[in-house]
Amino acid sequence: MRAVYFEEFGVLPLVREVPDPVPSAAGVVVRVEATGLCRSDWHGWMGHDADIRLPHVPGHELVGVIDSVGPDVHRFAVGQRVTVPFVCACGDCPECAGGNGQVCRNQTQPGFTHWGSYAEMVALHNADVNLIAVPDSLDAGAAALLGCRFATSYRGLVHQARLAAGETLVVVGCGGVGLSAVMIGQALGATVIAVDISAAALETASRVGAAHTVDSAGLSDAEVVARIRECAPDGADVTVEALGRENTVAIAIRALAPRGRHVQIGLLPEDPTFPLGIVIARELTVLGSHGMPAADYPALLALVASGRLRPQDLISATISLDEAPAALAAMSAATPAAGVTLIALACPARS
Ligand SMILES: [Zn+2]
Ligand SMILES: [Zn+2]
Repeated sequence: MRAVYFEEFGVLPLVREVPDPVPSAAGVVVRVEATGLCRSDWHGWMGHDADIRLPHVPGHELVGVIDSVGPDVHRFAVGQRVTVPFVCACGDCPECAGGNGQVCRNQTQPGFTHWGSYAEMVALHNADVNLIAVPDSLDAGAAALLGCRFATSYRGLVHQARLAAGETLVVVGCGGVGLSAVMIGQALGATVIAVDISAAALETASRVGAAHTVDSAGLSDAEVVARIRECAPDGADVTVEALGRENTVAIAIRALAPRGRHVQIGLLPEDPTFPLGIVIARELTVLGSHGMPAADYPALLALVASGRLRPQDLISATISLDEAPAALAAMSAATPAAGVTLIALACPARS
């Protein structure tokens, strides 16, 4: 098969022939239909992820059709269209037994712990636990994006922060995952305030559901908080930081109302200094979100099927596998393009 392949961190990947993957006993091999370009893939390529062993093939949010199955797979068969959470659970450990496969202690992640989906085929482990059937009617781009950013934002807002209709949500950082939080917040009936330094990102945020935007370019952190409070005088009920910077985490915390909930989604290369005094004084709750177990996907799929949430509206470019290395490299730019890039592959099983 052909795959995006690198032997050194930070060096432009090649697109080349590699051996076809073989399913593990409880796993499957999926022929990839589409896969999203995510900032985590960029972090992995830059050497920021300790799980990655070289040489490597990135890619972790995908939709495709099962091409082969291991002997211990019972719930899925060749020819079924599926997606998968980027955290694949083992199904056996205490976290999995408690329904929290997203923090499984034996988790595997395509594109991190093993080769991923920037390829014609990808191996996925513990298929019965992790695969999610995807109806043929669902847009390939929408389905692919459910594997990482939409699942992470959905779990963060619905299961962790318990965002309710009528509440105020502030999203700091409007890249792919931040914009997915804007869309989910709007679909849940919240009033969404989007914050970014990019006018293009804020324009997209408005288009997909933000009621207010704060252009933070050139402003001090205190000025950004003040601008947010002009839109939400009582403070925000829920904040999301989707960028992964110490100062924007602090902005999100300071924008909260007493008893507010902060969801941290942006990945921080180093542990930040954090305004813990405000957490105490306002009795704030700080939450993480690390994907979502397959068993929790039906409600998210139903929201997409209802038409109230349209992940495909975030896709700003669709490229081929051959264009993927350059697109990954373009993410090194200080202000990456707004929206999500989708890598579309041929899928003979559906043609
Ligand atoms: Zn587990
Ligand atoms: Zn991702």
